[in-house]
Amino acid sequence: MFDNLSDKLDRAFKVLKGQGSITEINVAETMKEVRKALLDADVNYKTAKAFTDTVKEKALGMNVLTSVSPGQLMIKITNDELTALMGGQTEELELKQNPTIILIAGLNGAGKTTFSGKLANYLKTKKGKKPLLIAGDVYRPAAIEQLKVLGEQIDVPVFADLNSKDPIGIAQAGIAQAKQNGNNVIIIDTAGRLAIDEQMMNEIAAVKASTNPHEILFVVDSMTGQDAVNTAKAFNNRLDFTGAVLTKLDGDTRGGAALSIKSVVNKPIKFIGTGEKMDAIDVFYPDRMASRILGMGDVVSLVERAQMQFDEKEAAELQKKIRKNKFDFNDFLSQLNQIKKMGNIKDLMGMIPGVGKAMKDVDIDDNAFKGIEAIIQSMTNQERENPELINTSRRNRIAKGSGRDLTEVNRLLKQFEDMRKMMKMFSNPATAAKMMRNMP
Ligand code: GDP
Repeated sequence: MFDNLSDKLDRAFKVLKGQGSITEINVAETMKEVRKALLDADVNYKTAKAFTDTVKEKALGMNVLTSVSPGQLMIKITNDELTALMGGQTEELELKQNPTIILIAGLNGAGKTTFSGKLANYLKTKKGKKPLLIAGDVYRPAAIEQLKVLGEQIDVPVFADLNSKDPIGIAQAGIAQAKQNGNNVIIIDTAGRLAIDEQMMNEIAAVKASTNPHEILFVVDSMTGQDAVNTAKAFNNRLDFTGAVLTKLDGDTRGGAALSIKSVVNKPIKFIGTGEKMDAIDVFYPDRMASRILGMGDVVSLVERAQMQFDEKEAAELQKKIRKNKFDFNDFLSQLNQIKKMGNIKDLMGMIPGVGKAMKDVDIDDNAFKGIEAIIQSMTNQERENPELINTSRRNRIAKGSGRDLTEVNRLLKQFEDMRKMMKMFSNPATAAKMMRNMP
């Protein structure tokens, strides 16, 4: 699903790789790539433009977190906006009425009959309903037969009248039977056409007028791209449907329909179809879909956790200390704790794209941290604040106290000193810029 789009978005975010901050220029460049990816996926031009403009604006106004990279932050913002684009929240079916009447509409081949069966099965098994299916496709006897077969398969009654060519009469008779038999949900399958056609629209509008459905679900093949959106517009103008159903998302779809429908017709996607079998139906969750499209759900949760932990005041304090070369072992320890709060190290590393797979079999244990912690905890407070005091005899004492090797203590002190030097250098913008220029 959406493999192409996912790959292209992945490439777009590579623009930010190695960049230390989010700037007007690198955001613009990334968004140019994102927009191209969306257009290639058949997303409507206006939708794609509005989308990238919003992401850009949000990115430039965002706090920069020390613990995540600009690329990761941008992925998170893009993810949130994709979710919003697809409607934000999941919209449930309105099932309070008894009986609830659901009208199914769409072009031929979109998957209406299949979806009618899937929906009946879903309502029966997941919602404890007692549905009745009405076969309203009077032009295709095969469609009526198909619905009957599906009904048998899922053990849901099907109302059909092979001798009638009057969809309104069939719907009315079906509803009467449902009421008599105590069916609390009625799903009416209808006839489609190969393309938008006035007669079909009139007919389904008449069925709507005579049955007063509580839900009108517009079924559309997600593989049809821009056409899906145009068809949605035409059906919505005529029927004012309550929700869309995207079928065939198991195929090699480019994703444009999923991304544009909500913003173009302002109707939620309520279900997706992911196969021909009766259980291949899913409630549509915009957030899950966004993370599937980006293929970076893990980065998103990484940034979320970092945002949760981020304390602006503390960060400012830390910056000040670094500038004055006063970053000490106490600060280091509290940074370690911050990282630990975000979760287990292996999980965190695994969330970085590309690293996850590579790390699968590597055994990093959180004990690496424990060693460092033990060493720092064996220092006196004076030593933590002034690491330069730690001479050979103090090193030996710390090693003994922490139960770690002297070489480990030496390594940590060396790493800490190097880190301090780096931090100091980078905290001075002029030096940092000079260093960057000298980099290959
Ligand atoms: P209708 O003309 O709108 O009633 O469409 P049908 O329900 O007859 O479906 C048309 C074809 O699409 C059939 O071969 C279905 O098996 C197939 N189909 C429907 N939904 C899906 C889906 O979600 N995934 C896949 N792969 N095929 C589907």
